[in-house]
Amino acid sequence: MYLFQNGGIVTDQPTLASMCVKCEKCLDKCPQDLPIPDLLEDVQEDMEGIFTTPIVWLGKRAMKVKNR
Ligand code: SF4
Repeated sequence: MYLFQNGGIVTDQPTLASMCVKCEKCLDKCPQDLPIPDLLEDVQEDMEGIFTTPIVWLGKRAMKVKNR
């Protein structure tokens, strides 16, 4: 479900945790002082892996076939 929602399969705008470039611009803006880059790294470790790219590719292909 994570890859389906965040891999850009549905919206064509991926929001994967691995896309964080650790610029830390979000740190000053978070009202709860969450360590967002660190948390995204945890999400990446838990939810992404060597199959992320092929699964996202397959998901996009499947959506194109479904929408024909
Ligand atoms: S989540 Fe924060 S650290 Fe990561 S790219 Fe966005 S603004 Fe930069």
